Amino acid sequence: MKALTYHGPHRVRVETVPDPILEQPDDIILRVTATAICGSDLHLYRGKIPGTDHGDIFGHEFMGEVVEAGRDVTNVQIGDRVVVPFVIACGDCFFCHLHQYAACETTNSGRGAILNKKNITAPAALFGYSKLYGGVPGGQAEYVRVPKANTGPFKVPLTLPDDKVLFLSDILPTAWQAVQNAGLDKGSSVAIFGAGPVGLLSAACARLAGAEEIFMIDHNAYRLDFARQRYGVIPINFDEIDDPAAWIIDHTKGNRGVDAVIDAVGFEAKGSLTETVLSNLKLEGSSGKALRQCIAAVRRGGVVSVPGVYAGFIHGFMFGDAFDKGLTFKMGQTHVQAYLPRLLSLIEQGLLTPEEIVTHHMPLEDAARGYEIFEKRKEDCRKVILVPG
Ligand code: NAD
Ligand code: ZN
Ligand code: ZN
Repeated sequence: MKALTYHGPHRVRVETVPDPILEQPDDIILRVTATAICGSDLHLYRGKIPGTDHGDIFGHEFMGEVVEAGRDVTNVQIGDRVVVPFVIACGDCFFCHLHQYAACETTNSGRGAILNKKNITAPAALFGYSKLYGGVPGGQAEYVRVPKANTGPFKVPLTLPDDKVLFLSDILPTAWQAVQNAGLDKGSSVAIFGAGPVGLLSAACARLAGAEEIFMIDHNAYRLDFARQRYGVIPINFDEIDDPAAWIIDHTKGNRGVDAVIDAVGFEAKGSLTETVLSNLKLEGSSGKALRQCIAAVRRGGVVSVPGVYAGFIHGFMFGDAFDKGLTFKMGQTHVQAYLPRLLSLIEQGLLTPEEIVTHHMPLEDAARGYEIFEKRKEDCRKVILVPG
């Protein structure tokens, strides 16, 4: 089959690789009908995630048709059309019973060995996200093996086209969880850092939650324009406004800052990752600029919600300010499985229309160009969907 594979920083290509096969009795094989490129893929693409090897197949946002099922699979059948959560969870451990699927303690047992320390921080395995996250081949491919198929794959009605439901795999639940974590309510104010796909869908979910004032910070004017027109955000371009947090404070009631902030940027590692980094996960040069701005922009007693991905030490994290302001931090990978029925219903009712952020559809064969366009923000790119076959 054809799949998008990694060959060093900024070097990906579509090549022929062996077809996946069933390995466990609760696996399925999916024929992928649509798969997207995520901001999280850019961390891999830039070579910033330890444990990424040449030949790795990326992709954790995908959907398709079940073409094979192991003997223990009861949740889906051959022929079903499903969206697959990017988080691989067993459904039956301590954390899965708490619906904290991204903390599943059974699917990523390899991480402790890689980091040469106890496995206490290991999150669940993820599709297409390096050995650190379980070494499971991803879905930017014609076919993909889906482990734990009784917990992940989620059936979607044939009446909804792929574009409308594909983002149930990751960025829609991620935005939803970010807004839930932010505690947004009717009349709330919020500042969302990052107008990428996660930031944009966070704005959509914030509107749905009744947020009144939504500030959005980025420096891609075309993304800010879209967010202003579609979600009525107050755009702040940090190439023009040097200190967005100070500007936000000046423009909120009582100059107190916003009720909550959402960091939809994540880490911006500058240096290269070495073996040293592998052993202690210390990211030299991570600026954490968005996170510092978040802490500055939120009011006392407010919430900092962090869907953006961080790794290792983040320099300049102002814990003293966070303490003095009495802030609450909520963050982490998304517990995708927990939100799917609710989000599908909101899509069916037309209350969420995540497909509106898509700007590019292209054949899987053009995936390398898709990465370049999305990473370099060319052609006013907001989101790329790859279509195999
Ligand atoms: P993206 O790269 O398309 O968007 C990030 C945006 O942030 C860009 O538009 C960029 O210009 C902007 N930005 C950069 N520095 C900034 C700053 N200092 N202040 C404000 N904006 C800044 O990525 P995306 O797909 O929207 O993903 C965003 C983040 O969410 C990534 O870190 C990704 O890994 C993470 N993510 C997390 C989860 C999860 O489960 N928690 C799921 C999906 C994505
Ligand atoms: Zn993603
Ligand atoms: Zn589990």
